[in-house]
Amino acid sequence: MIKAIFFDLDNTLIDRTAAAYDIYCDIVSDCLPDLKKGSFEYEAAVQKLMIWDEYGTIEKAHVFNRFCKEFHLDMNLVESLSARWADEFGNYARVFAESENTLKNLGTRYRLGLLTNGYPKMQREKLKRSGLEKYFEVVIVSGEHGIHKPDVRIFELACQKMGLNPEEIAFVGDTFSADILGAMRCGMLPIWIHSDHLLNTQLKIMRIQRIEELTELL
Ligand SMILES: [Mg+2]
Repeated sequence: MIKAIFFDLDNTLIDRTAAAYDIYCDIVSDCLPDLKKGSFEYEAAVQKLMIWDEYGTIEKAHVFNRFCKEFHLDMNLVESLSARWADEFGNYARVFAESENTLKNLGTRYRLGLLTNGYPKMQREKLKRSGLEKYFEVVIVSGEHGIHKPDVRIFELACQKMGLNPEEIAFVGDTFSADILGAMRCGMLPIWIHSDHLLNTQLKIMRIQRIEELTELL
């Protein structure tokens, strides 16, 4: 019997894709001033960054390395752009329209927790800006513990902090290799949320496309 639900943050409760698009637009404007904002060339540069970013799973140094090579920019920019990302990305956070209602609703029936991978300062800033912090009894940011999803130890820490066994916890996240794999290793019930229904899997796992679908699923 499920007693608690743990959530991932990025692209689960907050629209990381929209935030990434916004910051990459600002970066293209600053680094490639010859490309006119709103032109197809400008948009193509932003869309390249979005693809290299792979939903945030690729280290920023790699993304900006590729960017600087592709657009013949000073390679010293790689470091400063990576630092800019770490400093500023938290400020771009946008919450999905139905996240708050869903948490409010589920919070009447389940205990709620958050388990996110990333830098403490950035993830805490995103959470603060989302206005969702008050719904969580337990918040774990991987960077504060030096272990990251899918490492089973961070999921075990989540169980321990909630005072429940893994079978009593559902885990909702969008990144299969971090969220779903880790939850399965720990023995939680994994629920894969992904807006792209074309992503295929042979596994019989619970799937949703939008956060509000959880209310009926659980
Ligand atoms: Mg995520």
